[in-house]
Amino acid sequence: MAQAPPPRRVAPPAGCGMIPDMGTGRRRVLVVEDETGIVEPVVAALEREGFTPVVAGTLEEARAAFEAEAPDIVLLDVMLPDGSGFDLCRDLRRTSDVPVIMVTARGDEMDRIVGLEIGADDYVVKPFSARELVARVRAVLRRFEATSRVEAPAEAVAIAVGGVRLDTARRQATLDGEPLELSRKEYELLTLLMRNAGAVVTREQAIEEVWDTNWFGSTKTLDVHVSGLRKKLGDDPTAPTYIHTARGVGFRFAGADELEAGAATP
Ligand code: CA
Repeated sequence: MAQAPPPRRVAPPAGCGMIPDMGTGRRRVLVVEDETGIVEPVVAALEREGFTPVVAGTLEEARAAFEAEAPDIVLLDVMLPDGSGFDLCRDLRRTSDVPVIMVTARGDEMDRIVGLEIGADDYVVKPFSARELVARVRAVLRRFEATSRVEAPAEAVAIAVGGVRLDTARRQATLDGEPLELSRKEYELLTLLMRNAGAVVTREQAIEEVWDTNWFGSTKTLDVHVSGLRKKLGDDPTAPTYIHTARGVGFRFAGADELEAGAATP
């Protein structure tokens, strides 16, 4: 086996000059993909739309490029020559909340669900148009940056319902004092539900607020996240304490009074 080449930094198009990325608002997109036929149009579209693409063809290259380039967002193929994109996504999530869009094979719904469960923000299904991909990149970045602004310490609040507590300054959720390991989307969904504790949050509202108004994926994504949250909260889906299903409508986080009444009942 030949030694893996170093990450290829894609040069800016001719005529761009040597404008550094920092401070110019050009977002760096790490494209982890080994198929040249996909890489080329994606890189061209990203450059055209004002992004700075950085290409990695293997997991090893991707890890090096992630360290060296500090990308603003990662497009991550599942099937790579030296392993699975899922593994890289899991590793990234241990240390970073960089937005990740998984690139999955057509018809493989399992791949999409796994990707979202391990903390990816979105997915695209092959074959996709470069235009669709750029729209997803923009939507995910917009969502991510809006969330980062909302989380400014000045607006930080703590919300507690029953044994569940959210500290928005630290972006931390705890259950009975124990930290919960939540993906970013799980955290946002929990925040939305808890801010509306006692009231139903409709599926449409959840999709719009936690994902994006431009979301055009399956609403199954919402169910995957609700089921993930229930698991972490120790909720039995058939008799949940915290997250109740409003059949055909949406979900409702139990109200504080309801939980107290439940606790008082022998
Ligand atoms: Ca591949």
